[in-house]
Amino acid sequence: MDRYDERDTIFARMNYEVDSPEYCDYYSRHPELKEVDDELRSKPDLCDASSPSYDPIEASEIRSNFSLIEDLRPLCEGKPSSGKLHVEPSDITDQIKLMALDYGADLVGVARMKPEFYYSHRGRHREHYGDEIGDLLPYGIVFAVEIKKEMIDTAPAMTAMVESSRTYLKAATIGLSLSYFIRSLGYSARNHMDGNYLSVLPLVASAAGIGVFGRHGLLISDRFGPRIKLGLVTTDMPLTGSRSVNVDLERFCSNCGACSRECPASAISGNGQEIVNGTSRWRIDHELCYSYWRSNGTDCGICMKVCPFSRGIGFSQFINNRDKIIGTDSVFLRVVSRSDASQKEPSSEKSGRAVQRRSVDPSLGRAKPEVRG
Ligand code: SF4
Ligand code: SF4
Repeated sequence: MDRYDERDTIFARMNYEVDSPEYCDYYSRHPELKEVDDELRSKPDLCDASSPSYDPIEASEIRSNFSLIEDLRPLCEGKPSSGKLHVEPSDITDQIKLMALDYGADLVGVARMKPEFYYSHRGRHREHYGDEIGDLLPYGIVFAVEIKKEMIDTAPAMTAMVESSRTYLKAATIGLSLSYFIRSLGYSARNHMDGNYLSVLPLVASAAGIGVFGRHGLLISDRFGPRIKLGLVTTDMPLTGSRSVNVDLERFCSNCGACSRECPASAISGNGQEIVNGTSRWRIDHELCYSYWRSNGTDCGICMKVCPFSRGIGFSQFINNRDKIIGTDSVFLRVVSRSDASQKEPSSEKSGRAVQRRSVDPSLGRAKPEVRG
């Protein structure tokens, strides 16, 4: 797998102001994308007052959350304290995982970083456009924050994007807390958060056992399905890695296809997997997806909402009922509705977690009551 170039991502491309140096550079190398990108840029931005989903109060919260994230951006990097404290990898890994959970993460794992987990070049901000990404720190602490079901169930309304902005902010502050702590021990640590990633987080999260990829291209976790927002801290502090999840959703997604059917932009492939950048996956048309975002004024979220794993199928249930779930839609739907009925209210789940999460299974990187499969 080649390293991705952040300059190619739709979010970086939308930042290139017409006739700016980065605009001229990028479209001289990718003339085939100029027309479609110019058209996308000409549409009203997310949260624009003219968009059909607009709500002034919700739009204000979204803007203020992203504004705060932007203000936090310079804090992502910093010098480690002088004098490195000796740490035992397994002990400090357990400690870091507990800290992440106590700061508000819902899932956490550790991956040995591979070069392809890092972007090759930066693209999101003018001051770093085209910078090669070096200094590849060898460990990644990757965590996930739950996206509340009652919020994503409103997708593609602006309420779902409020939740999206809240979880981006929460992931940002958890990562900052962890990175400050690690630097205080004398090790390098870099926080990766919205608008300031050097790494492709879903790849790291997959390697760290947080979940597996579905047809919609989102990482599906055992406990929350795709209703997660990821955060990452990379470091040179020695850590022990988590096991990846050994679940293959190819047949399941082949029979389900709900995200592909429900996507208003027809951006998710309804066909089989293809080889994309050396790996087998379902193709997503990011331009079509983003075009719908700009038309609607939010970051959509319908594919996350309709995925049955967002409604309570855990991996153990999937594995135990694999044949029934894959066999027919009717049995599959009965399994889903049983899961819905047995789900705890979010509030009680939250209040119980503070006690449960003290016990961490270091090999899986998740609080023991959450471990399945
Ligand atoms: S976010 Fe919406 S438009 Fe984009 S792929 Fe998912 S369902 Fe389709
Ligand atoms: S909605 Fe269905 S096809 Fe799409 S990722 Fe979820 S399980 Fe797979």
